[in-house]
Amino acid sequence: MTEQTQVRRPTTRLSLGSRRMFVALDFVTLVGITAHLGFIPLFTWLQLPVLAAFNVLSVLVWITARVLNRRGKLDLAVVLVKLEVAGHATLAVSMLGWDSGFHYYLWPLIPFAGLNDRISPRVVFVEVVALFVLYSVLYWFTRAIHFQGPSPEVTQAIPFMNVGVVFTAMGMLAVYFRLATSASEQRLRMLASTDELTGLTNRRRMLEHIREEIRRLRRSGRSASLIMGDIDHFKDINDKYGHLCGDEVLEEVSELLRNSLRDQDFIARWGGEEFLFLLPETDDAGGVTAAEKLREAVSKLEVQFEARKLKVTMTFGVATLDPKIGIDESISRADDALYQGKQGGRDQVICWKNPEPAPAAKPPVV
Ligand code: GH3
Ligand code: MG
Ligand code: MG
Repeated sequence: MTEQTQVRRPTTRLSLGSRRMFVALDFVTLVGITAHLGFIPLFTWLQLPVLAAFNVLSVLVWITARVLNRRGKLDLAVVLVKLEVAGHATLAVSMLGWDSGFHYYLWPLIPFAGLNDRISPRVVFVEVVALFVLYSVLYWFTRAIHFQGPSPEVTQAIPFMNVGVVFTAMGMLAVYFRLATSASEQRLRMLASTDELTGLTNRRRMLEHIREEIRRLRRSGRSASLIMGDIDHFKDINDKYGHLCGDEVLEEVSELLRNSLRDQDFIARWGGEEFLFLLPETDDAGGVTAAEKLREAVSKLEVQFEARKLKVTMTFGVATLDPKIGIDESISRADDALYQGKQGGRDQVICWKNPEPAPAAKPPVV
């Protein structure tokens, strides 16, 4: 199994907020394991065997938290991480004094609690107050302890090393939260603009594409085409073979239509069995050619449902997307052309035409 699938596996059961916490924790535990592994030789060198031994324990705790997170035990992993950080900071400050700067490790627990939407704001508040109390008590009892390293330089360097590690951890935690949040937002945007059954763009998103295209057309003076397509006698399919069969037809027709387009074209599920196409840089003649290609492809399709093979046809109406008349009127023209195609016997392509002007009244003969 690859690293990627291992990381993703438990998230499929998680909500978007929990997925964000999962991703952040997966990263935080990696930083935690690395940092504590680095502390073991440092404390050994400083001849502080108790702290070195405690770091071995810490590494094990961080590994456990990482495994728990990946196994879906997110909350337990979070509790372990918090206890480890608070306990470790308390022990180190108690032994080496306030000046050593090990209390800085308590700071990242604030965003770590606040950004976790699996716990209520009230719990976050309680945790922050508890941290403040711990911080104050530690200060009170440890400010008189002054650790002497092997040299004054080392003694002075230790708090800076701690500040550096905490800065790095906080900065990376923030970036990871942002990445995880952006991924969630992207997923939400995708869900909000996609039709669930067919995976095609939905009506709302298509209208945005059309608005963008209209703005481009106003600048370029070029034309674009709209095609409205509708499956013929679709109701009969539902009535004869059931709704599930109708859904299967919709999915397969959608797939075919999507694959029959150029990269720059857009297709949306406009209504039940109705599809709207937007073809940039295309005039009426081009629109008719494209619609004819779609019609032909659909007429050749055979949809397999249970033991049956079904044939379907579609009717298409083509109209120019004209900035002068606006979006609604342009769509309504494509709809009118489609309606004419339905009336004309279906399985055909009709292009919207300006109705013939009424013949001028003959001048009276004098
Ligand atoms: P026409 O050739 O004139 O277009 O006839 P039609 O039967 O295709 O059109 P009509 O508008 O009478 O019926 C459309 C049917 O599409 C009715 C509706 O129940 C069905 N429908 C709409 N959305 C879905 C869907 O998501 N799944 C299924 N299975 N059926 C749907
Ligand atoms: Mg129909
Ligand atoms: Mg219809």
